[in-house]
Amino acid sequence: MSPVVELREVTKTYPGGVTALDAVSLTVGAGESVAIVGPSGSGKSTMLHMLGTLDRPSAGTVLIEGGDVSRLPDRRLSALRARRIGFVFQQFHLAAGVSALDNVADGLLYGGVPPAERRRRARRALERVGLGHRLDHRPHQLSGGEKQRVAIARAVVGEPPLLLADEPTGALDSASGAGVLDLLRELSGSGTTVVLITHDRDIAALLPRQVRMRDGRIVHDGARMEAAR
Ligand code: ADP
Repeated sequence: MSPVVELREVTKTYPGGVTALDAVSLTVGAGESVAIVGPSGSGKSTMLHMLGTLDRPSAGTVLIEGGDVSRLPDRRLSALRARRIGFVFQQFHLAAGVSALDNVADGLLYGGVPPAERRRRARRALERVGLGHRLDHRPHQLSGGEKQRVAIARAVVGEPPLLLADEPTGALDSASGAGVLDLLRELSGSGTTVVLITHDRDIAALLPRQVRMRDGRIVHDGARMEAAR
């Protein structure tokens, strides 16, 4: 089976000359959950942008489910991203004044799913994250942990094979953060591939595979260590 996502010798140099990623190779298989961990400035966000096809590499190849995305035109790339990759960010990025249900239903806008079906699936996704009782709440009526659950429901409502989470607990107190991490682990247990970015080693240690970054390079990869034994 092809990996869900693969970076082959990916380099990213930003205008001004900063090499944020330096010939990085990483393979993430279906159903894996991986923590990318490293200090600020080590290239984690840049790596997430590459894995999520949000930005293009300066050199090297990005493969999603075995397909090279480097030469896809922008429109095809956005369609692939909308259907195959879910994103969760530290600051939730929910639409203000819009109910939890509609925030999640909007996660299906690209799929050509009719509105009634979008809402039905959104309700199911919210039930899955334990928010079946908060469907009509607006973001300002939800706690931080609940907001992040809504964001996770939105990210997985289209059942993408890959979920990318960028410091998903960074804005949460430790109890709600732990709940969000449990939820991500539950999702990965049911087959979604999860890649989580964090600067926090304790959080990274909760995931079975840790990839450590420093100065734009991978300095440790749990999977590679296992394979080498
Ligand atoms: P991390 O997520 O680990 O904090 P980043 O990937 O954000 O690391 O950054 C890696 C390096 O690339 C840093 O030195 C940062 O200053 C630089 N960088 C990140 N984004 C940009 C950008 N858009 N333009 C120029 N330099 C950038």
